[in-house]
Amino acid sequence: MVSHSVGGMSLTGLRAAFTGEVVTPGDPSYDGARAVFNAMIDRRPAVIAQCETGHDVAEAIRFGRENGLEIAVRGGGHSVAGMALTEGGLVIDLRRMHTVAVDPGRRTARVGGGAVMRHLDRATEPYGLATTGGRVSTTGVGGFVLGGGAGWLDRRFGLASDNLLAVELVTADGRTVRASGEENPELFWALHGGGGNFGVATSFTLRLHPLPVVTAALLIWRPEAGPEVARTYRDFMESAPDEVGGGLIYLTAPPEEFVPRDMPGKLACAVLVTYAGGMQEMRDVAEPVLGMGHDAEMIAEMSYADLQCMLDDPPGYRNYWSAEYLTSFPNPAVDAFCARAADLLVPSPSQHVLFPQGGAVARGPEGHPVPWRRAPWAVHPFGLWEDPADDERVRRWAHDVRADVRPWSTGAVYLNFIGREGEDRVVAGFGPDNHRRLAAVKAEYDPGNVFRLNHNIRPR
Ligand code: FAD
Repeated sequence: MVSHSVGGMSLTGLRAAFTGEVVTPGDPSYDGARAVFNAMIDRRPAVIAQCETGHDVAEAIRFGRENGLEIAVRGGGHSVAGMALTEGGLVIDLRRMHTVAVDPGRRTARVGGGAVMRHLDRATEPYGLATTGGRVSTTGVGGFVLGGGAGWLDRRFGLASDNLLAVELVTADGRTVRASGEENPELFWALHGGGGNFGVATSFTLRLHPLPVVTAALLIWRPEAGPEVARTYRDFMESAPDEVGGGLIYLTAPPEEFVPRDMPGKLACAVLVTYAGGMQEMRDVAEPVLGMGHDAEMIAEMSYADLQCMLDDPPGYRNYWSAEYLTSFPNPAVDAFCARAADLLVPSPSQHVLFPQGGAVARGPEGHPVPWRRAPWAVHPFGLWEDPADDERVRRWAHDVRADVRPWSTGAVYLNFIGREGEDRVVAGFGPDNHRRLAAVKAEYDPGNVFRLNHNIRPR
């Protein structure tokens, strides 16, 4: 039986105006509906409004504001700090709004505000088209694009936000606003990295690129080889063509057939080379890394949508991540990075990651609020584990990783790669000048800071 009120608030008006579903504590689907990727986040919203239309979103905002509820907006639910969930408030859950309409002639996709990467990648795949996505298939397009958006294809096609052509947004006062190069350009600028601060995005129009095939090479070594591998990888990436993506990743060696029997479950050093093109070209280009000699390899040509599923982790692990963006990766930085891999929690899905940037990321527009784009390297401790007894250990490792590479840090940080790390880090995520400019946009579109469960920019 559906409940007609919750905490003294009548749900009748909301339900009458709503196409989607309104879920409250006690409903059989409630616990599933409030679960997010990070299992450490356990909050109980009063109402979860599972929207199906922009009108639903506007009704949900109105209901939340009239009842004085804290409002969270949920896309894919991947935020490490659980920003898609509120304790006792209202969740505007966009997951039912995941339709993707591809226009192959114009090479664009119009993507629902609650779609995840899988929806986008599988919709563009039949046309041999793709655009920069996150590095797994389950991340929400919403939080990802609005934060900037980095992935396997970014050196070739730029950040996801560089491919953003238009956004449809429901603002705090329930209006539907379009932002593009021509309409509301200042808001459009703010949506290139400013996150969910300005309203609820109900659709994104993204530029697509021809990409019939990609190649992935996963090479694995025993950890002792790490420093030499890292130096070779660094030198290779410093002049690699834009088609090459990937990263250097310390991880728990997987129990796969191509991995020697004594390695699974133990620490290993891996290089993932992704290539926006076919196998032979990749082999020619990546010779310096492929030719090093390794303990295990898996090389395959596949569709981009398949590559996106290669590293999918199931939800339900505890999460802690952070990041530093580096001006360079000289030998002392390599040594510090590799030495700290010894503290990675093994076995676990945690990863001790170095991502290359450069290419089209570095060449992208100067003015967007993503000051980390010019850094050639990103160090990303990505902790995923099961046992609460390991919480402190993983946090300490992530902090130590940051401290080790801080001498080479630009100080800027990609906010989608961190949780709540304080106001200074939020300012560093945008840059001080951009932060001030974003605060002015915020004052225009959300003067009451209704949308504050994010890397928050207070209205100026
Ligand atoms: P949510 O938790 O739903 O939302 C995150 C924030 O965005 C919240 O503040 C929310 O309110 C806001 N938001 C979401 N959708 C909308 C919308 N439609 N309108 C307005 N506000 C919205 N990032 C990368 O750049 N590259 C990667 O390769 C990458 N890999 C990842 C891999 C994993 C396994 C995980 C868990 C995360 C990864 N991320 C990556 C980080 C990811 O980009 C961020 O966590 C991002 O915020 C997730 O967006 P979401 O919609 O899934 O999250």
